[in-house]
Amino acid sequence: MRANPHRHLTDQLNGVRNLGILAHVDAGKTTVTERILFVTGATHRRGEVHDGTTVTDFDSQERDRGITIFAAAVSCVWDDHRINLIDTPGHVDFSDEVERSLRVLDGAIAVFDGVAGVEPQSEAVWRRADRYGVPRIAFVNKLDRAGADLDAAVESIRERLHEAPLVVQLPIGQEDGFVGVVDLLRMRSLVWAEGGDACAEGPVPEALREEAHRRRRLLEETVAELHPVALEEFCAESSISARTLSTALRDLTRTGEGVVVLCGSAYRDRGIEPLLDAVVSYLPSPAEVPAVRGTWDGTVCERAADPAAPFAALVFKVSSTATGRLTHLRVYSGTARKGDMVSDAGAGRVERIGRILRVQADRHTEVDRAVAGDIVAVVGLKAARAGATLCAPAAPLVLEPPTVADPVVFVA
Ligand code: GDP
Repeated sequence: MRANPHRHLTDQLNGVRNLGILAHVDAGKTTVTERILFVTGATHRRGEVHDGTTVTDFDSQERDRGITIFAAAVSCVWDDHRINLIDTPGHVDFSDEVERSLRVLDGAIAVFDGVAGVEPQSEAVWRRADRYGVPRIAFVNKLDRAGADLDAAVESIRERLHEAPLVVQLPIGQEDGFVGVVDLLRMRSLVWAEGGDACAEGPVPEALREEAHRRRRLLEETVAELHPVALEEFCAESSISARTLSTALRDLTRTGEGVVVLCGSAYRDRGIEPLLDAVVSYLPSPAEVPAVRGTWDGTVCERAADPAAPFAALVFKVSSTATGRLTHLRVYSGTARKGDMVSDAGAGRVERIGRILRVQADRHTEVDRAVAGDIVAVVGLKAARAGATLCAPAAPLVLEPPTVADPVVFVA
């Protein structure tokens, strides 16, 4: 058998997570993004929303208004995985941009406010993500705030989103005294020191042991109801191992049958490391999501995440920066190199790819190619607009437009 020269690229693909952070305005999306970039070492200082130094909000209008208006894609590394964070605007006014960014995600973290729980806007964004079949995990943020209540937030996920919450942590302390979590899979505690230093792992505190066991049991029962393999183990052993639970949580996240719930306080740097572990464990890589569909001349064609297949990418954002006009792409199949010609088949135009950049928070790194699964920015394309398909000129197609949006119903 001939060795597949793209094998290592396919392996690399398994280590990629194209991730969005979805939230109601003010739930803490920008702060969570900042903390992820900081914890992964992509930035070396903490950005603060109130002093206008966050790196994802690099547009001044956005800083002035204090909300995330313009989606930016940033890249960071956690546990040998490349995490591409595609910033999705939370404000309903920018729904075109929300739709486009949802289209290019393989998974998302939904951030909820620990005091308010699920709010009407979070419900609206959740429904949109449903339409694109984006697998999600939930992060209940702001557990340090007065009135924060994880259980109430979890109930609102069940009642307002009609989802099965799979709570994998028990908070240690509440409100101002919220210092850490018990990891219910490993039955270990994670406690963060004041000032946001790395978390310390230890045994479950004596006072929480009974409660932690009760909640672990609840998690096992819920998972057993939803997952046949877990059910089998539960029936045979009267319990489910951490390993089986983890596999089941991964499957349930991908099918959307359950939502893994974690908690923390982004502002106080609490809960970000386990959140990143959950992203890597439960959300899919580009190789694990279904092939995208496109059409050409009335014929439907599919493009799988294969670096050897014909090139196909979607422009999800165009921005003008000091580096020039940046065309942000999600590559679905094939490989493009600097200097390659690509076709915007829908517009009947062929253009040359100039430089290919990976955006890492506040800096760009030039890369020699963009392969299936990548999120990159290209310099040199003059005409391609957001929403356009770019493809190999010899294999033209237009990627299917997003599912027609249902009217969004806001519940007061
Ligand atoms: P976004 O609109 O969803 O991007 O939310 P931001 O990240 O801008 O946060 C909104 C406000 O909540 C800001 O004033 C943050 O400092 C604050 N905030 C974010 N996370 C937390 C948290 O964990 N605890 C507390 N107490 N405040 C937070």
